[in-house]
Amino acid sequence: MNWEAVIGIEVHAQLRTARKLFCGDRVGFGEAPNVDVCPVCLGLPGGLPTLNPEAVRLAVRTAVAFECTVNPVSIWARKNYFYPDLPKGYQITQFEKPLAVNGRVVYDGSVGESVVRIRRIHMEEDAGKSVHDRVPGATAVDLNRAGTPLVEIVTEPDLHHPGDVRAFLTALRHILEFADVSDCNMEEGSLRADANVSIRPRGATHLGTKTEIKNVNSFSGIEKALEIEIARQIEVLESGKTVHQETLLWDDHRGTVRPMRSKEDSHDYRYFPDPDLPPLLVSDAEVAEVAAGMPELPRALRARLEAVYGLSGYDAGVLSQTPQGAVYFEAVARRADDAKAAANWVMGPAQALMNARGESFATFALSTEALAEVIGLVTDGTVSEGVGKAVLQIVADEGGAPGQIVEDRGLRQVRDAAVLEGWVDEVITEFSDEARRYRDGEVRLLGFLVGKVMRQSDGTADPHQVNELLRGRLG
Ligand code: ADP
Ligand code: MG
Repeated sequence: MNWEAVIGIEVHAQLRTARKLFCGDRVGFGEAPNVDVCPVCLGLPGGLPTLNPEAVRLAVRTAVAFECTVNPVSIWARKNYFYPDLPKGYQITQFEKPLAVNGRVVYDGSVGESVVRIRRIHMEEDAGKSVHDRVPGATAVDLNRAGTPLVEIVTEPDLHHPGDVRAFLTALRHILEFADVSDCNMEEGSLRADANVSIRPRGATHLGTKTEIKNVNSFSGIEKALEIEIARQIEVLESGKTVHQETLLWDDHRGTVRPMRSKEDSHDYRYFPDPDLPPLLVSDAEVAEVAAGMPELPRALRARLEAVYGLSGYDAGVLSQTPQGAVYFEAVARRADDAKAAANWVMGPAQALMNARGESFATFALSTEALAEVIGLVTDGTVSEGVGKAVLQIVADEGGAPGQIVEDRGLRQVRDAAVLEGWVDEVITEFSDEARRYRDGEVRLLGFLVGKVMRQSDGTADPHQVNELLRGRLG
């Protein structure tokens, strides 16, 4: 039997607010346990929720970034269940009427540009944390996270390959980062993705029974977990048994999934509208305002870099990884007046220097002016490419202007034939053996000899001329 996997994703992203969703407590990370709490998020009698408008603004921004329709009226609902990290005994979420519906994410999948439809985006509060490694033999509860604002983004079951899930999630995170709504840090749990998966005979249109995989803390982990779960379901069906609807936990160390609970249905949660909160109203004007303030998103940026600067899709993709990187590139391209050279220098030497210094585009010690100046010096032949790279390093380490550094240190490229011939003669004398072997036909030794002349000149000789001179002398 030829099987097809069907996959839908649920992503929880923590909104980047200073305060919790329904009270004034701080949203922190790594604080001492149970310091950011109050009667409201502890669920003490009489505590009443007050909505944080900043969270709503970021959630609407998320909805607009994913091209959703924002509902003018959405309803807060209580999802009731018992768990030690849920002090109220219910989670405030949105159920029947979510904040937004019908969005999409375009991403580059295994068959090229593909679309995953977003079914809904709703707001909800996070629960606290059960901490298993703090008190020996016991589980501790930390409620700092209780009441932190989240958006849940739910896709249609439009994915079919674990590798595509990873590509889709990468695109989704990219959009969240560009829209600046979440830190998207999977290790700290500010981005969590659960995968729902079923299989069916290829060509069938019905959906099979799904399982849901939770507790995966990396995109590569999700890809791996899905591969394993798809193989398991195929085996179950092929041996004549049936897949049970259940929630599975991914074990990253063992690389296995194990059942956590048989999946409950939504009616088990006894959802009902929260009597303490009025419906959430978002006007068309508010949506329009958010849309107007939306920064350029990754795909639009990439397309613009291709169109405006004539970059390849690959280069434009690399340079649109972060908004800061693109801003940096565009500043260099404008100043250097040669977009292709700017792209090569930003992606190559500048990026390497930045990585070596542990900096980001936002903190990079090399200004766009300095990089553009170096590109100009290399392009017009004042210095060689190698010297240009060395100058970048000097500017980053010591500051100063590239042109001045070149003059002060005598780094100008030497094209004076007499001077070059002097170095060439010295090298031919010193490496007479290699010179003779080159004459005898070992042509690859030319590179070796050019290198020696370059060293002789402290990197200042014009390599093209050196090449010509050596060929002439040894020809
Ligand atoms: P639940 O009520 O179990 O949360 P939903 O219908 O809300 O299920 O869907 C949750 C996620 O699971 C969505 O992303 C949806 O696309 C996906 N999904 C639903 N049914 C299936 C299925 N049979 N196979 C794969 N994914 C599914
Ligand atoms: Mg669900």
